[in-house]
Amino acid sequence: MGFRDELPCSIRDVVDLLSIQVIRDTGTQLHCRCPFCADRKAHLNVKLDKNVFRCNRCGEGGGVLHLYAAATNISMAAAYEELCRIFQSGEDIRRRKLNDTPRNQRIVTPEAELAPSNIRDNTYRNLLSLLTLGSMHRESLLMRGLSGDAIDQLGYRTTPAVRSGRIVAELLERGCELEGVPGFYRDRETGSWKLDIRASGIMIPDRNMLGEIEAIQIRLDRPYKSKFNNLTSVDKYYGTTASCCPHFAGPHDSDAVYLTEGVMKADIAQYLSNALGQPRCFIGLTGVGNINQFRRLLKELATVHINRIIVAFDMDALINENVRNARQRVLQEGSDAGFEMTPIAWDEKYKGIDDLLLSFKEARAS
Ligand SMILES: [Zn+2]
Repeated sequence: MGFRDELPCSIRDVVDLLSIQVIRDTGTQLHCRCPFCADRKAHLNVKLDKNVFRCNRCGEGGGVLHLYAAATNISMAAAYEELCRIFQSGEDIRRRKLNDTPRNQRIVTPEAELAPSNIRDNTYRNLLSLLTLGSMHRESLLMRGLSGDAIDQLGYRTTPAVRSGRIVAELLERGCELEGVPGFYRDRETGSWKLDIRASGIMIPDRNMLGEIEAIQIRLDRPYKSKFNNLTSVDKYYGTTASCCPHFAGPHDSDAVYLTEGVMKADIAQYLSNALGQPRCFIGLTGVGNINQFRRLLKELATVHINRIIVAFDMDALINENVRNARQRVLQEGSDAGFEMTPIAWDEKYKGIDDLLLSFKEARAS
C-alpha cells in the first residue's frame, strides 16, 4: 500500500537532512549513531526498504515522520508539513522566502465513506466479542437496575486500554471490513489499521430497527462536557465520523413506542418494563436535539405501522431550556407527520424514565 509514498522523501533523505552520523551503510540498512540517546556506537538501525528505524540502545523507533518529529521535537502533523515543504519543491521555498506569501499549509486528511449498516454491524459484533466488561462497570450497571444476564445480552463492554493492535489484527484475520467503520483509521506512515479509543468507559451498542449495531456509544468514566461519546475516528487518516441511529430496545410489535434520550437509558427502561411484567418498546435518541435522527425514526415507525409515540424525556425538561425546546419540536414534528404524540411526566425526583421504573421495581421488591 503506498501510504509511505505520500511523503515526498525516504528515511534516507531524513537521515541526511538531520545529519545523523551513518557508521555503516549496507545498501539495505544504515547503522547510525543514535541522536536520541548517549549512543557512541551504531545502535540506531535504519531499514531502508521499510522506511523504519529503531535504536537497540534506547528503544526509540518508528517511521519517517516519527524520526523527523522526535529529532526536531515537533508534532507528527508539523513534521509532515515541514517534510512536504522541504522535499516537495525547493523552488517553492525559495520563492516563498522572496515574496514571503503565506501558503495554504493545511494537511489533507482523506476520510473514508461510511460503510453500510450490515458491514458496521458485523465489524462491531466481532469487536465486542473480543472485549470484556470490567467489574467496576458491571457493578455500576447492576446499580442502575439491570440484571447480570441482561447486561450480558446487551453486549456492553469496557473500552480496551491496551493491545488495540492485537484486536485489529484479529478483526482482519476474521475478514472484518474496517474501512468506513467509525472508530477505525489508518496509520499515516505505515497504512496499517488502528482502533481509535479516545476515552475510557462502557461501550454501548446502538441498534437500529433490524437489530444491527450501527454505532457504539461510550459512557465516559470521566465525563467531559457530556456523559457520552460516540466511537469515532473523525479527523484521522482514513477515519470515519460516527453515525448513530434511533436505538430500538425491545420488540416493536405493539402500536406504541416510548421515546427517551440515549441508548443506555432505553435499554435499562426496556429491561425494567419487562421485569415489571409490562414489556414496552423503548427508542433512545442519541442526543435530545438530534432532529434528523427523529425524522428518520418517524419514517421507520411508519413502515411498521406504529402511530403512537409516548414522549418520556428526562424531567429536567422542566428546567433545562434546551431540553424543553427539543421536546417541543419533537412533539410538533411528530404530530405534523400524523403521529399521536403523548408526552408523559412524573415525580421530578426521578430524572429519567429508567429511574422511575427502577423505583417501581424496588417498591415491589420491598
Ligand atoms: Zn538510542
